[in-house]
Amino acid sequence: MSYVDEVIEKVIAKNPGEPEFHQAVKEVLESLRPVVEANEDLYRREALLERITEPDRQIKFRVPWVDDKGQVQVNTGYRVQFNNAIGPYKGGLRLHPSVNIGIIKFLGFEQIFKNSLTSLPIGGGKGGSDFDPKGKSDREVMAFCQSFMNELYKYIGADEDVPAGDIGTGAREIGYMFGQYKKIRGVYEGVLTGKGLSYGGSLARTEATGYGLLYLTEEMLKCNGKEIAGKTIAVSGAGNVAIYAIQKAQQLGGKPVTCSDSTGWIYDPEGIDVALLKEVKEVKRARLTEYAAARPSAQYHEGRGVWTVKCDIALPCATQNELNLDDAKTLVANGCFAVAEGANMPTTLEATKYLQENKVLFAPGKAANAGGVATSALEMSQNSERLSWSFEEVDSKLKGIMVNIFHNLDDAAKKYGHEGDYVVGANIAGFEKVANAMIAQGVC
Ligand code: NDP
Repeated sequence: MSYVDEVIEKVIAKNPGEPEFHQAVKEVLESLRPVVEANEDLYRREALLERITEPDRQIKFRVPWVDDKGQVQVNTGYRVQFNNAIGPYKGGLRLHPSVNIGIIKFLGFEQIFKNSLTSLPIGGGKGGSDFDPKGKSDREVMAFCQSFMNELYKYIGADEDVPAGDIGTGAREIGYMFGQYKKIRGVYEGVLTGKGLSYGGSLARTEATGYGLLYLTEEMLKCNGKEIAGKTIAVSGAGNVAIYAIQKAQQLGGKPVTCSDSTGWIYDPEGIDVALLKEVKEVKRARLTEYAAARPSAQYHEGRGVWTVKCDIALPCATQNELNLDDAKTLVANGCFAVAEGANMPTTLEATKYLQENKVLFAPGKAANAGGVATSALEMSQNSERLSWSFEEVDSKLKGIMVNIFHNLDDAAKKYGHEGDYVVGANIAGFEKVANAMIAQGVC
């Protein structure tokens, strides 16, 4: 049996009940076959694949807090510090009822390669809790965040592990967590990114993942003789990534016509009104029905269905496994020629394969959504320098990083004989740097 298949089997046996983690490991290791085969003796002797699929440590803890009725509630907190071969652990905190250890491990594992692809010195980690901020008062969210940090502070630090936002963790939650860390530790340091502008946050961090997704997509299209201008775009999600992806797509001359949340989706043939979407989601924290109520051209549908809309480009920006094989078939039948992942692993393995077999340009999330973590690393640099850069400066660095990521993965795919396979390219380009660092640092 090949080394890759052996390790996939071991990971599945050692980590039962963690399907998302198995899926991520399979996706990465299978696409690494060309590099692993070229270095098989060395990697086997070093147990490199066994080491890279085993987190440095995983922390699980109780998060008790008191709700507005005086009732004590208990959630579970997680931080998985996956790999720090090339820099301090870095990765977001997800607050969503679906969170469990397998989901945090899948995200932490993917984060290793994504962070490496940015060319910045950051390792991979991820954390979160099964707490749901939706429907909670500000005081309840603060109580949860403070209790979460009462335990997490022991394991993080500006040179150790620097968490950030993710689903359910926005500027409000980061603010409460930062305040509590400062209170407990008595130090003012860049221990979290995604902070407010008045206390160490970076301009353009809010926009970074969505904007970065479009910068990389634009470069991928350009290198394949196509462009965003004039194209119809289907976007899923209505959160941080989706909103700024829609905004940048419009600035580049594209026409995003859909968005979605966990209860329903919008089709707006005249193009999504970003100001209205921001008002509904960022200010009122309301459902998309309010968008439809305020916009005569918009149709609201319950459930899922974004991928049934005829489009040229699809940008899944909500959550994992939200674009399945049937969706991929519909997209191809409707003439979609590019899919770029704003979310982490939104496309199932079967759907990815089908899209690639049908010559759809496919940019995987670990490259396409790396703009968020890259700008977080720029926030860390500004915090260390005690400086803040202008929006234009950060945005232009972000664009440079995304263009560079695309060329790194394009080159890696070509080098190993898989031209145009950006999944293989992204995994190989991200992996090689981490693998070399791990070998250079010895068995640790
Ligand atoms: P937000 O919480 O801001 O938005 C998430 C959006 O997805 C919301 O519209 C939400 O709807 C929807 N959603 C969440 N879970 C589900 C579900 N199970 N089914 C259907 N819809 C769902 O998160 P972000 O925009 O920050 O993150 C979106 C994705 O991008 C995630 O995969 C995240 O890991 C990834 N990502 C985010 C980065 C960032 O900088 N923010 C960086 C890199 C990746 P509702 O409001 O109804 O829950």
